[in-house]
Amino acid sequence: MQQDDVIPFLTLSSTYFELKQELDHAYFRVMENGFYIKGEELKAFEEEFASYCQAQYCVGVANGLDALRLILMALDIGKGDEVIVPANTFIASWLAVSEVGAMPVPVEADKNTGLIDPTLIEQAITKNTKAIMPVHLYGHVANMEKIQEIARAHKLFIIEDAAQAHGASTNGKRAGSFGHAAGFSFYPGKNLGCYGDGGAVITNDKDLVDRIRMIANYGSKKRYYHDSIGINSRLDELQAAFLRVRLNHLDAWNARRLDIASAYNQGIKNNWELPYFDKESAWHLYVIKSQNREKDIDILKEHGVQTLIHYPIPCHQSLAYKEFNQLSFPITEKISKTSISLPIGTHLNNDQVQKIIDVANSL
Ligand SMILES: *Cc1c(COP(=O)(O)O)cnc(C)c1O
Repeated sequence: MQQDDVIPFLTLSSTYFELKQELDHAYFRVMENGFYIKGEELKAFEEEFASYCQAQYCVGVANGLDALRLILMALDIGKGDEVIVPANTFIASWLAVSEVGAMPVPVEADKNTGLIDPTLIEQAITKNTKAIMPVHLYGHVANMEKIQEIARAHKLFIIEDAAQAHGASTNGKRAGSFGHAAGFSFYPGKNLGCYGDGGAVITNDKDLVDRIRMIANYGSKKRYYHDSIGINSRLDELQAAFLRVRLNHLDAWNARRLDIASAYNQGIKNNWELPYFDKESAWHLYVIKSQNREKDIDILKEHGVQTLIHYPIPCHQSLAYKEFNQLSFPITEKISKTSISLPIGTHLNNDQVQKIIDVANSL
């Protein structure tokens, strides 16, 4: 097959070429300015991203996992505590909880959306439960109204894992603005990505912001005075400057993702189960379910269509979580066995989208 005929799952350099002038300008601005950590770019990005997320505060950190871990640390969640997490998620949501010494308590997915099923949360709450961590998986905002009701009734924190949901909303209210705090990732493949690693915490709680800034700065407020056992987790000036450029294009990029998702949902007529359609989703991933996954992936590949699986092994069946291996979450397990993620993103043109639909319909 010719290279030209391949439809990649993702082409990270496409946004660089699209915005080359602006990004190059940002690069030179930072390099010549001479501040590479904790300067004006970070400060400006934090203000811009907080405002984009309809929240008051943003703290730039090193990656999405750190964002979640820092929220948990700052809320004093640790050994002996439990945090409710979705069974169906990327493992980082669970890892954040494990890293602080608390216990992830998985809750099964809703079979239509793949997101945490709010009707099953209450039965997972114990006297040790401190927080619920909904994950806005695939770019779809979780059912926050129900989750907020439960959290209020049981006095629990809500920590949103918004790593796949930059710009997603429900009734106009953005991901990151529902919980006590939210963690975002700027890993290059995310809807808002940088050119390396990055992450952010979003919150309206000023005390929490101060604690997170301290913990992320070696447990120090004043240089060389260390009040707690902290870590080092920073978003650097170059990444912040690149993110400022890209943030201006995020809404347009998400609109393009929605167009593609909508074309797939209308155009694909085969025996796949198509994803739940939410027009306010950020459409980070377009995940279908197939009864003949291996065969379908092979045929798509023969036609040059690259696909991925999110995720082939549910967290509770992974080697990392051996003590959870005997648990059973049939919906999550079915998703892991049948799902295929089709390419979605601004690197695709309309012909490529149509070709993917045509190949899907020939299966
Ligand atoms: C990407 C991702 C993370 C982790 O973000 P990193 O920046 O890679 O640490 C956490 N949760 C979810 C749901 C993710 O998709």
